[in-house]
Amino acid sequence: MPSGPDQSSIELAARLNAHAELATILSTTRLSPSITEVIIKGDHHLVGPPGSDVMIRVVDAKGRYVRRRYSVRRVDETSESFALWIVTSHEGPGSTWASSARTGDLVDVVGPRGKITLDPLADWHLFVGDTSGLAAFYRMAQSIETPGRAIFIVEVATMDDALTAPFDEGLGVTGIFVDRTSRPHDDASGLLDGLSAFALPPDVGHAYVFGEFHVMRAIEVALRDRGLDEHQISTKAFWRTGRHNAEMGEPEKDL
Ligand SMILES: Cc1cc2nc3c(=O)[nH]c(=O)nc-3n(C[C@H](O)[C@H](O)[C@H](O)COP(=O)(O)OP(=O)(O)OC[C@H]3O[C@@H](n4cnc5c(N)ncnc54)[C@H](O)[C@@H]3O)c2cc1C
Repeated sequence: MPSGPDQSSIELAARLNAHAELATILSTTRLSPSITEVIIKGDHHLVGPPGSDVMIRVVDAKGRYVRRRYSVRRVDETSESFALWIVTSHEGPGSTWASSARTGDLVDVVGPRGKITLDPLADWHLFVGDTSGLAAFYRMAQSIETPGRAIFIVEVATMDDALTAPFDEGLGVTGIFVDRTSRPHDDASGLLDGLSAFALPPDVGHAYVFGEFHVMRAIEVALRDRGLDEHQISTKAFWRTGRHNAEMGEPEKDL
């Protein structure tokens, strides 16, 4: 059994100015048909601010090591642990790892990763995406200083995946869950309809758009059409329909 993270993770962490650790799984829980929560006991240095993620080293179907990135849902400082919400409704190395992970398993983690954090100057925060974005959305929204406003427009495969989160009383919260029904994963029309049904508040806002590659692009265009400028939109494609994410966990960006 290895006593520390793989040498490649140590080198990667050094390049990224991050940390590498062979951490331990505390628990795994199926929260909904598509979402599994994995709680990992690991050094707090692995975790960055709300919006950040960690890289998990997993094995693909051909036996090769690849990395998958997962946003941190919440941190428990007492038990030095953090939770991930992982979509497990498809077949892929990350999904397989999360579905089969058991308490006590070791996991090679590099973190923190990610550049998108909460815009401290925004009066309202709009979170748009699919279930893969929920962990980041909720952790970011829970860090909004009150009074403030959070709006969620999230597409789910089934309403049972519409997980909610507790927020401070002083936070105005609007949640719109869009049922994907039979639409393909790269069809943005459900989220676009959800977005157009919602009147954006006045004053200064910031949109965070996390989910499927093609859908994220369509949402970004729609938000620009609604008057948000590029500094008010933070978009990150988390995965891409019909393709594995690349070895380092990012979806391919070519068209
Ligand atoms: C910065 C960052 C943060 C992320 N945070 C999270 C997170 O908190 N939770 C989370 O679940 N994911 C998150 N992701 C996405 C996750 O890393 C990818 O979904 C990853 O591709 C899943 O890996 P996989 O090995 O299971 O599937 P892959 O090998 O990448 O893909 C296999 C197949 O499954 C499909 N697929 C992949 N993801 C999904 C999905 N969500 N729904 C439906 N089909 C899918 C692909 O299109 C492909 O056909 C994040 C990605 C990034 C870049």
